[in-house]
Amino acid sequence: MLHPILDALGLGEHNPGSYLGDGEWADSRSEPLLEVLNPSNGQQLATVSSATADEYERMMHAAAQAFVAWRALPAPRRGEAIRLCGEALRRHKDALGSLVSLEMGKVKAEGDGEVQEMIDIADFAVGQSRMLYGLTMHSERPGHRMYEQWHPLGLVGIISAFNFPVAVWSWNAFIAAVCGDVSIWKPSPKTPLTSIAATRICNAALKAGGFPEVFFLLNAAGTARAERLVDDSRVALVSFTGSSAVGRQVGVRVAQRLGRSLLELGGNNAIIVDATADLKLAIPAIVFGAVGTAGQRCTTTRRLIVHESIVDDVLNKLASAYAQVEKRIGDPLEAGTLMGPLIDRAAVQRFEATLEKARAAGARVVSGGKALERPGHYVQPTLVTDVEPTDAWVQEETFAPILYVMPYRTLEDAIVIQNGVPQGLSSSVFTKDLQVAERFLSASGSDCGIANVNIGTSGAEIGGAFGGEKDTGGGRESGSDAWKAYMRRQTNTLNYSDALPLAQGIRFDL
Ligand code: NAD
Repeated sequence: MLHPILDALGLGEHNPGSYLGDGEWADSRSEPLLEVLNPSNGQQLATVSSATADEYERMMHAAAQAFVAWRALPAPRRGEAIRLCGEALRRHKDALGSLVSLEMGKVKAEGDGEVQEMIDIADFAVGQSRMLYGLTMHSERPGHRMYEQWHPLGLVGIISAFNFPVAVWSWNAFIAAVCGDVSIWKPSPKTPLTSIAATRICNAALKAGGFPEVFFLLNAAGTARAERLVDDSRVALVSFTGSSAVGRQVGVRVAQRLGRSLLELGGNNAIIVDATADLKLAIPAIVFGAVGTAGQRCTTTRRLIVHESIVDDVLNKLASAYAQVEKRIGDPLEAGTLMGPLIDRAAVQRFEATLEKARAAGARVVSGGKALERPGHYVQPTLVTDVEPTDAWVQEETFAPILYVMPYRTLEDAIVIQNGVPQGLSSSVFTKDLQVAERFLSASGSDCGIANVNIGTSGAEIGGAFGGEKDTGGGRESGSDAWKAYMRRQTNTLNYSDALPLAQGIRFDL
């Protein structure tokens, strides 16, 4: 029976998965279908068709044509188009937020929050469309003017992860759109329904406003279509969000054809709690950071580095907070649920395997540690002590609610532990000591793309540039000047004199 949330968004038991432009959705059955399973009970929600190689080609052709029309529109008009997308998303917030929750398994408040993030970035993009500023320079030559301008880049491939099935697309697609680009979205095969719903809502808003549709969608099982997109020299920028392992391959392949890539990869985020920290702030921030989205955020708090003088107190407080969370694990769509399921059975197996390895090496599970005996992919939120900062399981990102708690003595030690992992996404310190805060934020402090004081590692706002260093990939998306990644810069020198002086005073007399 069709789930009412799917029905509310016009989705069926089977859905064409790819948008080829001009109102045409591809529904070839020659490729394996994507089977969408409900993570809270393991039952099938729907099926979605995979794009064939021929459909891919047709889509690329249509996208290239759409780009020619779109780049000719003045940027503020493109901003108006994205304003309409934001309005449409406001109208569909409840339904789309519910679908995110149903398909991905995050609780309804977080599903709605994800759609709110889309609305926020739409608003941001509207303003940005009037602020695609270039600099002017003073030429060293008399009678010359120099300036730079930013032009649309072309086709942007967006490959996204399952855990933020719609927000990450909008960060990329909306900013790319006001920059004059057309995007082709390859979503996670675990969350195709939200991608279909979001594409439909936004393209319908564009069409109703008399604008060309600039959001193309490529759903595909396996990796062949995604790899084609990565290798396709018609795609000027590949914006990839996902694991460091896959992102590394994507980065290398795009570099091989001298294309541009923007990589948003895994995190292994830590919070340092110093002896002066206000635990009334720190404990809820740690718990939300570690168990929110069942530990499946790139910014999830995975390591806790606590001053040795307060580590027992912090652990006790965390254990009682975790006991409260445990009582409220369940259906993500039910009011009051704090933690939903993991995405699939394989994620539960990775959770179990990681804890098994850690336990075998002497780690102590002080809270949680087990998968729940019930339908769906539920696990307990888990606290682990007696680990070394260099242990393999501490160094890796296990996409599950496991928090490793480690004591430290000096701030220097804490910063070495915090930075001593391959990833560099998000980090925080809880302290009332100004020197500690400033030291943490200084050049010799956190090496992450995001460093916070007295707030947790997760839950970034769209206004800042989002991304991280090292194995997190170095890309920046969303706010600040992240728009520059979606445009090409052109330097222009204009001679309004009657002479032709050369730069650097070079003479070339004929
Ligand atoms: P994943 O790497 O398994 O998949 C990501 C995407 O890559 C999917 O769309 C997948 O179909 C595609 N893909 C798989 N193989 C490919 C290939 N060979 N070529 C091109 N594309 C390919 O990641 P996931 O499990 O969906 O997501 C979880 C990961 O994403 C975590 O590591 C998390 O930290 C990371 N993530 C990072 C950010 C960020 O902004 N830094 C945000 C969300 C998620």
